[in-house]
Amino acid sequence: MAIKVTKRGSLPEHDLFAGTCHRCKTEVEFERQDARFTDDQRDGGYLTVPCPTCRDNISVQANRPKPPAPSR
Ligand SMILES: [Zn+2]
Repeated sequence: MAIKVTKRGSLPEHDLFAGTCHRCKTEVEFERQDARFTDDQRDGGYLTVPCPTCRDNISVQANRPKPPAPSR
């Protein structure tokens, strides 16, 4: 019997996140695998990427991925 995909998922490391730099207001979009994960007991941890503009840290909550964009 063949396996039929009824709904295609995506790997967690490819979850997309969106963040804004608090210092220079640069907006970024990144995959989970490109960020540094910091564990936090209270809110499930957060992800940090360096701001491409000012090198400050941009942090977003790890349990709130951006909804997938419409297929392009
Ligand atoms: Zn910045």
